[in-house]
Amino acid sequence: MDKSVDGEIVIVGGGICGLATALALHRKGIRSLVLERSEKLRATGAAIIMQANGWHALHQLGVASSLRQTAILIQRGKRISLSGESEEEEERTFGTSKEFRCLKRADLIKAMAENLPEGTVRTKCQVLSVKFDPVTHFQHLMLSNGAILQAKVVIGCDGVNSIVANMVGLRPARFLVFSTCAARGFTYYHDGHQFPAEFVVMDKDQVRLGRVPVSYNLVYWFITRPRTNQDSKISKDPVLIKQSLMDSVKDFPTHVKEMVRNCELNTLNLTELKYRPPWDLLLDKFRRGTVAVAGDAMHATGPFIAQGGSASLEDAVVLARCLAQKMQNNNNNNVHDNRAIEEALSEYVKERRMRIFWLNLYSFLLEKFFSAGSLVVKVILIAVFAVLFRDPDWHIHFQCGTL
Ligand SMILES: Cc1cc2nc3c(=O)[nH]c(=O)nc-3n(C[C@H](O)[C@H](O)[C@H](O)COP(=O)(O)OP(=O)(O)OC[C@H]3O[C@@H](n4cnc5c(N)ncnc54)[C@H](O)[C@@H]3O)c2cc1C
Repeated sequence: MDKSVDGEIVIVGGGICGLATALALHRKGIRSLVLERSEKLRATGAAIIMQANGWHALHQLGVASSLRQTAILIQRGKRISLSGESEEEEERTFGTSKEFRCLKRADLIKAMAENLPEGTVRTKCQVLSVKFDPVTHFQHLMLSNGAILQAKVVIGCDGVNSIVANMVGLRPARFLVFSTCAARGFTYYHDGHQFPAEFVVMDKDQVRLGRVPVSYNLVYWFITRPRTNQDSKISKDPVLIKQSLMDSVKDFPTHVKEMVRNCELNTLNLTELKYRPPWDLLLDKFRRGTVAVAGDAMHATGPFIAQGGSASLEDAVVLARCLAQKMQNNNNNNVHDNRAIEEALSEYVKERRMRIFWLNLYSFLLEKFFSAGSLVVKVILIAVFAVLFRDPDWHIHFQCGTL
């Protein structure tokens, strides 16, 4: 069987987190290899909301200014409840200190991939398992094509169903208890849309719709609604997804129904949401030996605060900083000393743990709030938010530091 040393650092998964980690390492002068199972880099989910903490991380990665050209600045957030007798509106201004833009995922992936040295990403490489070899002190990665690669360090950026997280010993991510399925898509308006630069969220009963313009022609929207037993089947066919969404928004305003009806079918995606509960994030180990996890593999979170992607970028910056510091202390640009690597990965985990715990808890409680049928539960949760999260923007004021 073919066994080759393919990189001191191998990153499993070429999504947002895997590419960001490779780019952060590259900016610190460290080579890595990204293994992605798909035929080409994917950008599933149409777009991603990026707030100030995410922009800080993108700046560290050197791609913020080019990405700013691709998405307009959103000025305000607006929440509209359609459930009562009359519409209720709540509004807040973002301003420049709370930079809020909605990026096309394809633009984000492209910007990061283009800044990597050639040969960093290998597609069609599905990792089946990772095992430590006590003789060579290398990690052995078994690929689906039968090849085995050896690496000193493995970073699992392989998403919510991560096999690396499994190997590290994390408990599996779970489905959200009561709910929830999320659909995402783009609608393109040839002659420009009429929507202001606002992030609008509308609720009606258990259906929630978010809408945010990416540019003057393109609008990103998402819908969350209770999961049905048809969803696995529906999610495989964009026409069925659209039909099901039209049904979900049948009591929404006409411009919403038009937006969904005229969506770009090839961008439609329906996902059953999975998450790691906050208490797992407090207790689980995120490193075993020289293997660690990042991004959704580490902290899959419900999308209720639109932070999973930004938190993944933060992971990448912190991880590269910790590894680079130890390697520079070793006065050596190769990762030869397993103990130094383990220390670096432990520092990374220590630095990230409480940040991802609070993000995850916030999102978890918001989901409970949205899905709560009882007024008493809602009031209790409002009290909890007032105590724990007095500043509703605490999570976007965070900065992961410099590379
Ligand atoms: C509905 C929804 C809306 C969201 N909205 C936002 C938002 O607005 N803002 C925000 O910041 N975040 C948002 N998120 C969260 C964000 O999408 C994720 O946190 C982010 O994509 C995580 O990136 P990742 O690279 O860790 O994982 P992924 O994007 O899942 O990438 C994992 C990659 O690993 C590859 N892979 C998996 N297994 C293997 C294997 N065994 N071998 C090789 N490759 C493998 C996959 O093909 C994939 O390319 C949202 C999430 C959802 C579900």
